Amino acid sequence: MSDATEPTADGLVTDICADLLRIDTSNYGDSSGPGERKAAEHVAGLLTDAGLSPELIESERGRASVVARWAGEDPARDALLLHGHLDVVPAEASDWAVHPFSGEVVDGELWGRGAVDMKDMDAMVLANVLAMSRAGRKPPRDIVLAFLADEEAGGMKGARHLVENRRELFDGVTEAVSEVGGFSVEVAGNRAYLLQVAEKGLLWLRLTATGRPGHGSQVHDANAVTRLAAAVGRIGAHRWPMALPASVTAFAEGYAALSGSALPIDDVQALEAELGTTARWIRATTQNTSTPTVLQAGYKHNVVPARASALVDCRFLPGDRDHVMRTVHQLAGEGIEIEVVHEDRALETTADGSLVDAMTAALQAEDPGSAVLPYCLSGGTDNKHFDRLGIRGFGFAPLRLPSGFDFASLFHGTDERVPVSSLEFGARTLGRFIRTC
Ligand SMILES: [Zn+2]
Repeated sequence: MSDATEPTADGLVTDICADLLRIDTSNYGDSSGPGERKAAEHVAGLLTDAGLSPELIESERGRASVVARWAGEDPARDALLLHGHLDVVPAEASDWAVHPFSGEVVDGELWGRGAVDMKDMDAMVLANVLAMSRAGRKPPRDIVLAFLADEEAGGMKGARHLVENRRELFDGVTEAVSEVGGFSVEVAGNRAYLLQVAEKGLLWLRLTATGRPGHGSQVHDANAVTRLAAAVGRIGAHRWPMALPASVTAFAEGYAALSGSALPIDDVQALEAELGTTARWIRATTQNTSTPTVLQAGYKHNVVPARASALVDCRFLPGDRDHVMRTVHQLAGEGIEIEVVHEDRALETTADGSLVDAMTAALQAEDPGSAVLPYCLSGGTDNKHFDRLGIRGFGFAPLRLPSGFDFASLFHGTDERVPVSSLEFGARTLGRFIRTC
């Protein structure tokens, strides 16, 4: 397979990924972490080795992203964006069996925070850029490579910063490929790869109740805590009806065609029996959610405070933003002020066109007989920011996973790791995709 003088992407990917895992890029949601600068410099070095001219861009000190344009055979064609984030969510080393920043291979698995989210994909991209450039090959069209800061805190200091301040970097780009898609699941004994074509939107709300402050010993009919608690209770207990966006219907249809039976979409246990922990992701895309997460009120046991507030994490299906907002207002009732702390859009595209064909063909060439199913992601990715530039985004970070491998739990979980064979598969598959995109 591999020639001694010419490294292949699958031969390079594990070392590249391990090196990235050893650089702590924990994102605590503010700027108290180490930042992405060190990782960005490392990536820029690799891109320079591959003959590219990367630019390192800081949104603030230490919060660095790297962007490079990889010239293709036909610069007249629309360009493709391949992007990955460099930051990771924090990891508590004492909870892990292997140190989260060691980048160690144990029993055929590469361990570390970011092993599946998403230094694996960063490494697959870099391995292919290096292998192709050393072989003197170009991609068929221009590819913009972006390694981004701050995705885990919403991307304001990474992708969004670039979209708002450096949009010329993405001139001519019409499509993007990034994370949380392209991994395999077992469906009725067949291997299926989930291609991400949609993302739920998010709406982070602060609810505030005001009332009359006073002494806790007295009869009180305008208590902010009571009013807020009732509103939060209604919002948290609300049963959102099932509503399938087109991407989820497409997933259910693909599942039915593959398994010969209907997807048990309204039965949590049956869904988990069919899809393992991936069922949690699928289930969250069959309805809107409104989840209270933080309560703040009061400062002394016998004092009624003047105000009480709560934070609610709402996630809406494509097209449902206004409906969710209206419903939350109705559930909250009188006397509750609702403020949007942060929101981001839902995305949905269709699983068709030449880019989807190239992703599908690459997977099926590396794993003959496998199926490819479109799906909707219950969380969000940096594709939301690039959508602002009219760029159509997909999740395709290919991984063939051993059956029973609990992929969904590893995202932001302890003991995050990726099988080396999966990484190598991903590098080969992504390489096929890049050469045919
Ligand atoms: Zn991620």
